[in-house]
Amino acid sequence: MSNLVRDGHYINGQWVVGESTYPVFNPATGSLIVNVAKGGAAETERAITAAAAAFPAWRALTAKERSVRVRRWGKLMLEHREALAGLLTMEQGKPLPEARGEVGYAASFLEWFAEEAKRAYGDVIPSPFPNSRIVVTREPVGVVAAITPWNFPLAMITRKAAPALAAGCTMVLKPSEETPLSALALAVLAEEAGIPAGVFNIVSGDALAIGKVLTESDVVRKLSFTGSTRVGKLLAAQCADTLKKLSLELGGNAPFIVFDDADIEAAVRGAMASKFRNTGQTCVCVNRFYVQDGIYDAFIKALADAVRKLRVGDALAGEVEQGPLINQAALHKVQTHVSDALGKGAKVVTGGKQHVLGGTFYEPTVLADTTHAMLLAQEETFGPVAACFRFKTEAEAITAANGTPFGLAAYFYTRDVARTWRVAEALESGMVGINEGMLSTEVAPFGGVKQSGLGREGSRYGIDEYLELKYLMMGGL
Ligand code: ADP
Repeated sequence: MSNLVRDGHYINGQWVVGESTYPVFNPATGSLIVNVAKGGAAETERAITAAAAAFPAWRALTAKERSVRVRRWGKLMLEHREALAGLLTMEQGKPLPEARGEVGYAASFLEWFAEEAKRAYGDVIPSPFPNSRIVVTREPVGVVAAITPWNFPLAMITRKAAPALAAGCTMVLKPSEETPLSALALAVLAEEAGIPAGVFNIVSGDALAIGKVLTESDVVRKLSFTGSTRVGKLLAAQCADTLKKLSLELGGNAPFIVFDDADIEAAVRGAMASKFRNTGQTCVCVNRFYVQDGIYDAFIKALADAVRKLRVGDALAGEVEQGPLINQAALHKVQTHVSDALGKGAKVVTGGKQHVLGGTFYEPTVLADTTHAMLLAQEETFGPVAACFRFKTEAEAITAANGTPFGLAAYFYTRDVARTWRVAEALESGMVGINEGMLSTEVAPFGGVKQSGLGREGSRYGIDEYLELKYLMMGGL
């Protein structure tokens, strides 16, 4: 295994191992990769103390000095692309080309926010009072807690750490217990990049205990969380008492509307990219395909043809486009959604059952004749199941697309310019893919509305989440 593998916590620049550990498994084979230190309240307290102690010196560096280190961190990721991708695939299961892509995507946030560090401009406001000036500065929020999921074990961390560190904040990170190795590898590279001790800390293990200390701490001024809406609400409630700033990137239930006038080939390409990336386990993956009556049969046929070509398997053992699901619970959810749909009248076009490989592998699936009475219309399936709903009018499609409590990503395909604007404005979501199935890039604001979350990550707006405005009234001039 690569020399980036670590099994301890990373606190104040030290690798800390405790008495208890937990196992990290390869989801493709079910085999043990390594036992990792299991942290709780005590390690979290130590990490918060370290982050608080490191904050004054880190914020006092010039933006350029912080920028140089953050950028170097990103460069090191790219230099270790193969090792990071291999580790990521081993603990998460995504195909190697996707893992390599994620390393690049994750590193792009470090490059981007290294640049933005230097552009955290203030403002001068014309004063309404004589002999005075009004100046606005922007200051780092302070110690930030980050809690991240397993589906993008690197990118979800750098999307938070890069703007936080660029802004002058320090961080305590709790990665997902499913994928701590990628996070720990990032810490190895952070140290090599010259990020000082205490600026970036990692504790993993007992999620509840770590989360409780992070959210209840007076020292931690902000929480940035990516994960389920259920846990996001819980953490927001836990943060209420100390009134922390919050960035929440939560669940979605993305609609993908294909109008009669769409380019079918392009729509299928977009559908494949959006639905089947990471085996359907991204928060912007399509959950509901709405296909207009006139094009319904043709679209489903073309989609099913593309889906049948997907190769499923262990990404470290051969070339595949679909890996396993992350764990048994994920498999169970997919199975429940499909059997519920079939029981309520949906039809299998292709797939529809556990893959012959066993484990947590599931057949890439297309279902026709799905309806809103089915579970998969209400909840994120988070698996390789394309549920296709039929609609007649544009108004009907918009009402259906907006008919969930979520609003992260939405997609639609049309060649009508007026409809493009109408539908884009009518969709209740933070991001809209128009004739495009891939949205994620470091230069654009990623985030949701409704119960999909608060705040935006990436882009020039992303650094604002880690900065406070300070207003200086300068009198007696
Ligand atoms: P997912 O379904 O993507 O695993 P979760 O919301 O369950 O989403 O998990 C996202 C992150 O939140 C993970 O790091 C997980 O360990 C963490 N987490 C889950 N429950 C809690 C909790 N009660 N307190 C703190 N962190 C939690």
